[in-house]
Amino acid sequence: MQGQMMNFNLGITAIMRHALQVAADTEIVSLFADGQVHRYRYADAFSRAARLANVLDVLDCPPGARVGTLAWNDHRHFELHYGIPCSGRVCHTINPKLFPEQIRYIVRHAEDDLLFIDPQFVPLVEELHQELPTVRRFIVLCDEDQLPASRLPGLLSYESLLASAVDHHAWPDLDERQASGLCYTSGTTGNPKGVLASHRSTVLHGMAQNMADNLGLRATDVVMPLVPMFHVNAWGMPYSAAMAGAKLVLPGPKVGDAAAMVKLINDEAVTFSLAVPTLWANIDQYLDHHELRVPSLGRAVTGGAACPLALMESMARKGVALENAWGMTEMSPMGSYNRHQPGYDDLPEPARGQQLLKSGRALFGVEMRLLDESGSTLPHDGRSAGALQVRGPWVRSAYFGQAGSDDWFDTGDIATIDQSGHMQITDRIKDVIKSGGEWICSVEIENVVMAHPQVAEAAVIGVAHPRWSERPLLVVVPRDADAPPCHGELIRFLEGKVPKWWLPDASELLDELPHTATGKVSKKTLRERFADYAWR
Ligand code: ADP
Repeated sequence: MQGQMMNFNLGITAIMRHALQVAADTEIVSLFADGQVHRYRYADAFSRAARLANVLDVLDCPPGARVGTLAWNDHRHFELHYGIPCSGRVCHTINPKLFPEQIRYIVRHAEDDLLFIDPQFVPLVEELHQELPTVRRFIVLCDEDQLPASRLPGLLSYESLLASAVDHHAWPDLDERQASGLCYTSGTTGNPKGVLASHRSTVLHGMAQNMADNLGLRATDVVMPLVPMFHVNAWGMPYSAAMAGAKLVLPGPKVGDAAAMVKLINDEAVTFSLAVPTLWANIDQYLDHHELRVPSLGRAVTGGAACPLALMESMARKGVALENAWGMTEMSPMGSYNRHQPGYDDLPEPARGQQLLKSGRALFGVEMRLLDESGSTLPHDGRSAGALQVRGPWVRSAYFGQAGSDDWFDTGDIATIDQSGHMQITDRIKDVIKSGGEWICSVEIENVVMAHPQVAEAAVIGVAHPRWSERPLLVVVPRDADAPPCHGELIRFLEGKVPKWWLPDASELLDELPHTATGKVSKKTLRERFADYAWR
């Protein structure tokens, strides 16, 4: 017997309708490069999204077409996140920090029909446009009088187009399995791969994020994604915040400017924010240096890479609970979340710190398992580390252009899961160091070293070794270039905190570590740099 509930499509349009009902007057605030602040309400954003949908019709953008964006977090990019998918097209966010040849590959592979670009990225697109045969129009996200002089053919101003359109659109009732968004992984190995979200996966992901033991956003929250919308839709915030009816603060291109971010957090009374650990480290140091605080910010998400305990503790002393989220582009992106529980503070050390570092429990909807090298499942005992596989309604079944499969997806991460379901990433399979046939966990060593007072940033990589096949090399950015820590001191600091045979054989000092286009330490670049390392 079938149930008798309505067949109601789960769609981004429903999020829009809901936010209009419960949060029409709630603000969306954007900060621009020149320091100007733009503010309007959800109601304004959605009426402009309707104009945008009409513009796409006028531009003859067909249903299902990919519409590319090269833009920072601001109100216009927010409108694109609704106007494009709710009118039946696919919002393809592109990371402008990728190498130009990767952007060329991505736009060609996605066969983007239109490109919406922030003015500052016009020169980048200008260089590439002759190799982008599918793109018919380039629309610059600015007023007519701010259009940059450019060799791009058929350049249009977003604001003029919107002004010419009516602010009502007959939103279609889309099949929930229809594609809504496309995002490419940064492709640290091989070409970038496209992950195609559906309306249904986006809604389910947002609902799961909004559960209390996950992000648990509320209408009283002020949500500021520092993570860019081109990094898996700012980890879902344009949708989850709207679902909760929370105020949104969009920080524009200045995310790396700690002074501007701290000011914005305090000016707008931000209660919740999300970023990769390197950005949190930046903000933490700025707060220390200027003896400033961010009293409204009670809770924030760190994700995308392992966060050192020293950083969590330092932010906790300032009243900000940094909570660990794990995910990947292939998972829309969120897979697990470590919502801090009151009981954590009662745990003895080092159990308390270890608990904070965990990547958290699977969101409802995501199933996880661990496999050993022979493909057998491993117990969830908090010790057995294996290949982490996942499945669920917002996990990709195939990459864009490939045939799908609903088999478990191999994340490429190595993890443990404890009896209470807390998963912990111990390494990425491609970063694991194999010494004398045994695995060394680079993340754990880094985590200890980062607590050293003279260390600003650290990474541990495997380097070829004549006897052990690989040995760990420690690469350190000193906090003060004039007083760098020596190798012996760092090893003494590590002794007793990690197994003896994990201790790095040598240390190298760098002024800064290389980062990927999403702000993570690029171990691939480090490995290339130290490939011919001469062990002393
Ligand atoms: P890319 O592959 O381009 O870096 P993603 O942003 O999708 O793209 O990265 C996903 C990977 O980032 C995961 O497979 C995992 O290795 C790492 N990661 C994400 N969140 C965390 C976390 N909280 N702790 C440790 N590693 C993480």
